[in-house]
Parts: sequence; C-alpha cells; structure tokens
Amino acid sequence: METSAPADTGDLTEQPASARRAPALGFEHTFAERLEGLFVAWEPRGFAEPSLIELNRSLWVELGLPDLDDDTAARVFSASLLPEDARPVAQVYAGHQFGGFSPQLGDGRALLLGEIVDRHGRRRDIHLKGSGPTPFSRGGDGKASVGPVLRETIMGEAMHHLGIPTTRALAAVATGEVVYRDRPLPGAVLARVAASHLRVGTLQFAAGPNGRGSLEPLVSYALERHYPDRAGTGAPARELLHAVADAQGRLIAQWMLVGFIHGVMNTDNMTLSGETIDYGPCAFLEAYDPSTVFSSIDHRGRYAFGNQPSIGQWNLLRMGEALLSLLAPDRDQAIEHVRGALAVYLERFEGTLLDGFRRKLGLAGEAPEDAALVSGWLEWMQSSKQDFTLAFRRLAQGLLDGTPAFDDDAFLAWHEQYRARLGNEPGVAVAARMNAVNPLYIARNHLVEEALAAAVDERDLTPFRALVEVLQNPYREQPGRERYTEPAPSTFGPYVTFCGT
Ligand code: AMP
Ligand code: MG
Repeated sequence: METSAPADTGDLTEQPASARRAPALGFEHTFAERLEGLFVAWEPRGFAEPSLIELNRSLWVELGLPDLDDDTAARVFSASLLPEDARPVAQVYAGHQFGGFSPQLGDGRALLLGEIVDRHGRRRDIHLKGSGPTPFSRGGDGKASVGPVLRETIMGEAMHHLGIPTTRALAAVATGEVVYRDRPLPGAVLARVAASHLRVGTLQFAAGPNGRGSLEPLVSYALERHYPDRAGTGAPARELLHAVADAQGRLIAQWMLVGFIHGVMNTDNMTLSGETIDYGPCAFLEAYDPSTVFSSIDHRGRYAFGNQPSIGQWNLLRMGEALLSLLAPDRDQAIEHVRGALAVYLERFEGTLLDGFRRKLGLAGEAPEDAALVSGWLEWMQSSKQDFTLAFRRLAQGLLDGTPAFDDDAFLAWHEQYRARLGNEPGVAVAARMNAVNPLYIARNHLVEEALAAAVDERDLTPFRALVEVLQNPYREQPGRERYTEPAPSTFGPYVTFCGT
C-alpha cells in the first residue's frame, strides 16, 4: 500500500456528491441488501474537475448502460456525481498479506456503486478505485494516480483478450488533483467491472470475531452469485470451497500458460469468482525463468512466477480454515473436506496446464509422454533464456519452414522427440493450430512503461491507446506493429514493479 501524508479527513462529508444526482444506471444492490456487516455505506466527496481519460465503449455496450455524455461519465466514474440509484459502500475484508494475517482490511480507496446485470444476464460490480478516503483508509490518502490506473486498464484488457477471467476497466478518469507518492503525480480514478469483489479475505473477515454472523449468509450469497448450479445442495460451504478450488486452479494455470506474474497474491487479492483482480506489481515474463520476481516489495520471492501454483493452494487452505466450522460438525471431517478441495485444485490446475501446453505445442490428442515433452521444452527454454511468448511462435515457424526453429544440440534432441510425437500431420496444420493459441502480442513491460510515461509525463495518451488496441488481437499478426512483438531492449531493466494505485 502506498501512503502519502495523512489524508485530510476532517470534512469528508462536506459537499457530498449525492447533493446532485446523475440519471439512474440500472443498479441493483444484492450485496448491500444481503450482507449487512460486510460494508459501510459511504458518501464520497468527489472531485471538482474530473475529465475522462478512457471509456471502454464495448464494455459499456455489454453492460447495457444508458448513454452518458463524456462530462457526466467523468463525474459519475470519479464519484463526483452519483447516479440516482447508486448506493456507494466500502467493503470490509481481512487477508493474509505476504503470509501475515491482517484481521481488518477494506476498501480504503474504493467504493462499490452497485451491480449491473449485463446483456448476457451476468451480475457485475461497478466499483471505483481511487475515489477518496473511507473509514478503511487508515494512513492512506484514498487516492490513485494516472499511471497505476492505466496499468490496471492495460493489464485487464490484455488478460481479457487472452481469454483469461479478469476484472476490467470500464473507465479511467483524471481527477485534476495532485496525488503525492515519491513525487507529485496526476490523480485518477479507475471504474472497475468485476463478477464481484468477494475475496478469500472477505470470508476470513466474516469468520473472524468482527464478522458477527455474516459467514453463513456470505457463503450462500457467493455460491448463488457465482456458482448457481452448485447452490441448493444443503452443503453450501463445501460446494463453495470446491468451486473456488476449481476456478482458481484453472485461473492460475491460465496465468502460467501466458507467463503472467500477479505479484501480490494475498488472500484479499484472490477472488471467489475466479477472476484475476488487483493489477498492481504484476508483469509478463520475458526470458523463461520460474524464479522471476518483478515486485519491489517481494523480497523473498514469495510470489515468484513459479510459486504461484503453490501460493494458490496456500490461499485455498486459508479459505478452508475460514470455513472450517461450516464444513462438517466434526473437525476431522471438516479437515477432510479441505483436503478434498486442495485435491480438486491440484487436479484442475495440472489438467488445465498440461492441456494448455499440449495446445501451445500443437499436440493433437493425448499421449503418455506429453508431460515429459512439455518439461523438456520448459527446461530447454529456461537454460537458453528463451522469451516465453516468442519461443512458441518460433517453434511453429520452424514447422512451417520445415527446419527446426533453433539449432543448438539440446533443442535438436528435444525436437526429434517432438517431431515423433507430432507424427505425420503436415507442419502447416500444426503451426496454424499453435498460432491460434500462442499470443504474439502481450503487455510487455517496456511497452507498458512507455505508455504510462507518455501519459503521465507528457499527457500523451497515444502510446497507451495504441498498446490497448494491439492487445485486442493477441494472436493474429498485425502488419506494421512488429515492435510490439519484441522483448525489451537490453537498455531496459532490470525491471521492478510497484504496488498500489
Ligand atoms: P491492494 O494493494 O490494492 O491490494 O490494497 C491493500 C489494502 O490497502 C486495501 O485495504 C486498500 O484499500 C489499502 N490501500 C492501498 N492504497 C491505499 C491508499 N492510497 N489509501 C487508502 N488505502 C489504501
Ligand atoms: Mg487488493
């Protein structure tokens, strides 16, 4: 968490934004109606002169929101003008952060405005990050700045277009205020859309001494909202634990398949929905190495690329502990259910991972040697420091060209086994399959930094917009955009990412 000088909270209620109201957006409030005790209602103070940086039009349409002019959108999505039907709340949660338990965290710089049922019937939260101090801000200023807000926008779009479940940015709004970090920065608010903001940490809070009876309602609510097929069995806590194990096993495997490093997998940053959330110190891997860490605060590599699968499991264990009293009347039996969930997680993780690598390597069907073939490929990538993204594309290119993509002995030895496994399917067909699942464009660190620097230092949004546009089509070659495929130049780095928006 980044903090600045203590926020001026003396006049938080001065000029509440609700004094004026924007037209209704169609909000519903099932969370606030059903989960008393897990939030505080909060009137944001808003900003005098907010202006729209970015609005995701296609997401807007998907949500079925009514048209708003840019000025109204800027006011609404900076919490400066509340829609008539908004009911802003700051959610409370707990969480294990870098292994240590904080019994009370919460939206210290964010507010949930309400839920929108989108055009596909999915209920989605509209949440504002950087909207000002709340009772959970403690030492923080409740603010966010343009750089991290745009980073979250870029990363969410990158993940979405890679087919990975994620929260997404609906809007980024400049507040016109200065936010003080290590230097003065332009302030911003991110309007974030999520399947919900329920986290493992929400369950941990509800299970704790201040949860006051909210655990059971929370479990039922989460199950009905995210896993309705599993509701109504009479064992909601078990169902929820298993469902989250399944969703997170799949999600984290998907991260591993594209080289995504979340960077801060605290239990308050692990959703019950199975969406990726909280793009702070995250980054995509370039040279393949499981020990890669980018985050400036992750000194021990707890959240290193290769640790993510076991951290996911560790977090699930914390979820199991929070639910223990509801899993079974008998403690040993309850522990058995937690074990069962961990097995579900592992099975789903390993299955998704192996399946994903089969597809990335163009292997048709399943063969007993596939796992070893994948390991051999990863070992070779690591020892020869291959770019995780490009290596798969080059491998496919080799099949197209009819010559092995790389010429060192270790690769050639592996490639012989690989060719044998591919059998006599034409290289063109295999390569086409591979290129449809191996991205050519990812949110490379130097491109993200370039886009953020231009936006923050020069108020030039062109590189940001160009990058977001490229990332909308990660698989198909985009002529003229070759530079977006290239790894960071040697002059860039070592790369370090920072927490906090
Ligand atoms: P995060 O790093 O976004 O997962 O945030 C962890 C916790 O710190 C959450 O409870 C946030 O609400 C809180 N937090 C982070 N930054 C700020 C800030 N600038 N002002 C107040 N609270 C913050
Ligand atoms: Mg968080």
